[in-house]
Amino acid sequence: MLGTAPPPSVTPLLAPAERLAVRRPGAAATTPPSYWGALEPLLPQVRKPAQYVGGEHNQVVTPWQAAATRWLLCYPDTYEVGQPNQGIQILYEVLNERATALAERAYAPWVDLEALQREHDIPTFSLETHRPLWAFDVFAVSLPHELGHTNLLNLLDLGRVPHRAADRGALDPIVLVGGHAAYNPEPLAPFVDAAVMGDGEEVVLAIDDVVRRWKHDHLEAHADGTDAASPGPEARHVLLRRLADVEGVYVPAFYAPRYHDDGRLKRTVPVEPGVPALVPKRTVQDLEAWPYPRKQLVPMTETVHERFSVEIFRGCTRGCRFCQAGMITRPVRERRPETVQRLVEEGVRDTGFEEVGLLSLSSADHSAIGPIARDLADTYEGTTTSLSLPSTRVDAFNVTLSNELARNGRRTGLTFAPEAGSERMRAVINKMVSEDDLLRTAEIAFSEGWRHIKLYFMVGLPTETDEDVLAIAELGIETYLLARRHGRANKVTISVGGFVPKPHTPFQWAAQDPPEEIRRKLSLIRHAIKDHSGLKLRTNDPEEGVIEGLLARGDRRVAAAVERAWQLGARFDGWHEMPTLATWRQALEETGVDLAWFSYRERDQREALPWDHLDAGLDKDWLWEDWQDAQGDQQLDDCRWSACYDCGVCPGLSIEHDTGYTGGYRLPVLPQGLGGSDALPVTPERYAAGG
Ligand code: SF4
Repeated sequence: MLGTAPPPSVTPLLAPAERLAVRRPGAAATTPPSYWGALEPLLPQVRKPAQYVGGEHNQVVTPWQAAATRWLLCYPDTYEVGQPNQGIQILYEVLNERATALAERAYAPWVDLEALQREHDIPTFSLETHRPLWAFDVFAVSLPHELGHTNLLNLLDLGRVPHRAADRGALDPIVLVGGHAAYNPEPLAPFVDAAVMGDGEEVVLAIDDVVRRWKHDHLEAHADGTDAASPGPEARHVLLRRLADVEGVYVPAFYAPRYHDDGRLKRTVPVEPGVPALVPKRTVQDLEAWPYPRKQLVPMTETVHERFSVEIFRGCTRGCRFCQAGMITRPVRERRPETVQRLVEEGVRDTGFEEVGLLSLSSADHSAIGPIARDLADTYEGTTTSLSLPSTRVDAFNVTLSNELARNGRRTGLTFAPEAGSERMRAVINKMVSEDDLLRTAEIAFSEGWRHIKLYFMVGLPTETDEDVLAIAELGIETYLLARRHGRANKVTISVGGFVPKPHTPFQWAAQDPPEEIRRKLSLIRHAIKDHSGLKLRTNDPEEGVIEGLLARGDRRVAAAVERAWQLGARFDGWHEMPTLATWRQALEETGVDLAWFSYRERDQREALPWDHLDAGLDKDWLWEDWQDAQGDQQLDDCRWSACYDCGVCPGLSIEHDTGYTGGYRLPVLPQGLGGSDALPVTPERYAAGG
């Protein structure tokens, strides 16, 4: 299928004057064509055609001429994967509430539709009105992980936008990326105009202001619509320069990497006067001011999560050393319990969803999760609405919470994430869970009627030995034997994936295990549990982490491989059914990008990292110390209930350090106005009690 992909084309569909006509702000614009008429007859030929139709409950369709700025928000995967994405839904609502802005959405077409689009000249289109990508002012792409990079290039090319930023003119959309993978956008540097780091709510409005003013200055002036009057490349430079002044926005074209003779990075330096040497992330300090999404989009067809979701807090200070999300989203910011209750009630009423998810990185850690769970369970007791808390915390309190939330349903499955099998390995990754904790929690869960426990683990962690790997099997077997003592139908599944080191974490210096080593470790586990046929083992394909690891920690030189892999037909790099690894290996060979050098090599303290000029708020010295602590099996407590260990995040936000219940200052684990810095001392006991 990949080999038959048509060659990429960047031929503009319309002449500059016509593109200028659709880009003008407000009523002066010509409304661009809708491709629905061309698309509809093709849909019977593709799988899951409903994903391309649009028309969801709560979608917003603003007349083209009513808006000064027009955004196309994109999740670079299929609709079924991308539609539930909270980040896109929040920005969609925030932008569409603005009187002068319009936001629509796009997802990646599956390869069957892509082939038809190329054959019938149908560009990347918006879901709401099927308008073409090239007509929008901003193409904003969410990158929650690195496996959407080739899809991004494909969407641009299919959308008649040059995939290289340097080839774009003033009349092409600005291409932005955000999300966790945007914290190292260097492998995408030649393709994106800007990367946005941090929380999106405020920064999209700041970017929208910049684009609106720039359009006023540069597009309204060319009202005669002639090619000669079209703004030139210097106008695009002005726009990029203004964007670089927005906090949280990084414009790669204004920075250049310098290398040592041996190929190591020396540093990445600004090459445009006035841009910051260190680009800070953007942090929304008060989540209460941004109660989104209020009008969640209800999917037209099956998606990976079909529920109403409320983010109950953002950030995490548990300090798991492998976890990029926990590191880059600090500090912790909670939503008030009454806001959570109101958002859930309004959302369920409006959308008709029968499942509610209380989202965060570790939902059982909200300081008022007990009362939140109890009040919601009271509200929906006896109804068909079910509540879920995607928490993997390993303790009895999590079981109590799950009992509360399962009042309306059966006690089926619970998931816990010890992440590593041995106590030593858990000390290395700072996952402070003992074997006793896990077995006691499982005992409570099975005795209270839960029937299935899933345990998540990783292999390939730094300092790991075969003994550590086999401890995963032993823990799985012990839990399984315990489960059987409570009922012969009880089940245990151990799910094991390969670890991928990520930027801005203490493990950013670590060597990644090659796939053959991951495969060997998985086979050790498989062999060790072979006499317990009821204990299920789920593993990821060891090859899956190869491209993710390369793109996570690659530098600007890796971009050549991204481009070549896409040209050779790589798409949907995270999908099992897409055999992209062979394509990638060919691309790496052709471009001379050394996978082993980028991924399987440990870095030392002196080596500059490709993301050193991007500030996630964490002190690099602290990350290094934590990396050293990891190698000495030293653990670090959560700063919500112990002393601040100076990771660097709070001072940058003018937040007082948390020195915990021993006295002094506390992290604002309660939102402003609900206690804030003068709240009750935070103790582990108070956390365990849920309030
Ligand atoms: S600066 Fe201190 S209190 Fe703030 S998140 Fe880091 S360790 Fe915790």
